[in-house]
Amino acid sequence: MSEHRTLDTFCPTCGYRANAATNINDKQTAPPSCGDITVCLKCGEILQFDAQLKVQPASLTNLLQISKEDGIRVAKAQRIIRARRPLGI
Ligand SMILES: [Zn+2]
Repeated sequence: MSEHRTLDTFCPTCGYRANAATNINDKQTAPPSCGDITVCLKCGEILQFDAQLKVQPASLTNLLQISKEDGIRVAKAQRIIRARRPLGI
């Protein structure tokens, strides 16, 4: 996993401030870019980076374009986050 610093960005669902992103695909080390899918570490919401690398709600179009393997990784990350913080607190 590779971690990348980002500008401060806030989850549109819970307001969590993030300033880093970790690539959950071991085969990829590139920093986040526009359209990449991410998961809020606090509430588990599925988000995407915009052109300024701020997080926005993920579009259905983008969600349908991710690979099956990445979809499984996103769902697993979401399950782990929500199991640890079931109320998003
Ligand atoms: Zn959140």
